[in-house]
Amino acid sequence: MERSPGFLNEALERKSWDEQQAERAERLREIVAHAYAHAPAVRRKLQEAGLTPGDIRGIEDLARIPVTPKARMVELQRANPPFGGFLAVPLGEVRRIFRSPGPIYDPQGADEGWGWEEALAAAGFRKGDVCINTFGYQLTPAGMMFDDALANLGCPVVPTGVGDRETQVEIMRSLGVKGFVGMASFLLQIGRRAVEQGLDPRGDISLKVAFVTAEPLPDSLRSEIESLFGLTVRQGFGTADCGCLAYECCHKGGMHLVQRAVVEIVDPTTGQPVAPGETGEIVVTLFNRAYPLIRFGTGDLSALDFGDCACGRRAPKLRGWLGRADQLTKVKGMFIHPGQLQTAFRDFPEVARFRAVVTRQDSRDVLTIMAEGGSAAGSELKGRIETRVREVLRIGGSVAWAQVGSLPTDGKLIEDARKWD
Ligand SMILES: [Zn+2]
Repeated sequence: MERSPGFLNEALERKSWDEQQAERAERLREIVAHAYAHAPAVRRKLQEAGLTPGDIRGIEDLARIPVTPKARMVELQRANPPFGGFLAVPLGEVRRIFRSPGPIYDPQGADEGWGWEEALAAAGFRKGDVCINTFGYQLTPAGMMFDDALANLGCPVVPTGVGDRETQVEIMRSLGVKGFVGMASFLLQIGRRAVEQGLDPRGDISLKVAFVTAEPLPDSLRSEIESLFGLTVRQGFGTADCGCLAYECCHKGGMHLVQRAVVEIVDPTTGQPVAPGETGEIVVTLFNRAYPLIRFGTGDLSALDFGDCACGRRAPKLRGWLGRADQLTKVKGMFIHPGQLQTAFRDFPEVARFRAVVTRQDSRDVLTIMAEGGSAAGSELKGRIETRVREVLRIGGSVAWAQVGSLPTDGKLIEDARKWD
């Protein structure tokens, strides 16, 4: 079966970026006017910035509106329950209300979805493919999001949730399941369980496509799953509040932005868009009449790649998840974040673990990269790592070897040990 390039709406996805942005600008004007009229919190936010809907003409005008960080959303909802003044339709037009950790309550409008159809089509899901949806169906929206999208594509859904692995294997074999939706790490566990049961996942299980999200997908994990099952794994990026924001096409190398939102990459301290290609916080404006999020700060870091893609889609690609905005650390005047260190060290598999430590000496920042190198550790390797770190972080640092197993295991990749007294 033909499973690529998987356009859901080819004419739209192939439109030039400028044309797409012009269409987004029109939808932006509509949603800002609607939200200003019906969502008191959005009206207040614009008024506080001295703006009226008429001031927001194009995408570039968005930068005039302050970013509402997710953490602030939790406070606003707590102060003015249940939706903090962001609901823009009567309750009779709300279909479901989800609760995500925070807590944060997300209403779903009666006729509004989350846009995962485009992502699933690009991943190779086709009408008639029986699919298992292993996301949970309670409280948070992930299960329902994909259930709706699969149904809209004509894919029968088995709502398995995160049930035990044996049951997942049995369902896949009994129903000839073709598609998997869920977390990559869980799919790997299912495959390993099948092997333990004496099965050959390539022959005994008919999975052809997997769509994964909600956690980073290293190349090693993707290849392991693809070769274990003989299938294609594609990933997407989204949030519980916003739904789908970007997805991979058959060529991978980043995730194309969706049509249904304006996705900006901004400097988290100023809220202003960064230059194309630079890393910053993902800020979303959603064309959603029930819950119009206008410049919602996701707290996630990424960057956009504006290069051409062979699939023919013209939307730039989100480089994937590069860490949390609150993990940004300013060193020697530049922001550095854990995702950059991971990128730099991808070229050095001989380094088991690493950690950047920032200190102050003579009123200047000093960056030291601690690396557990084992026997491979040498001055030549040290020099190569320092060069690569300078390329990726755009500031210099020196490598110091640490004994294997000696670095802390608190999950921190950047330790700010500066004293400011
Ligand atoms: Zn593409």
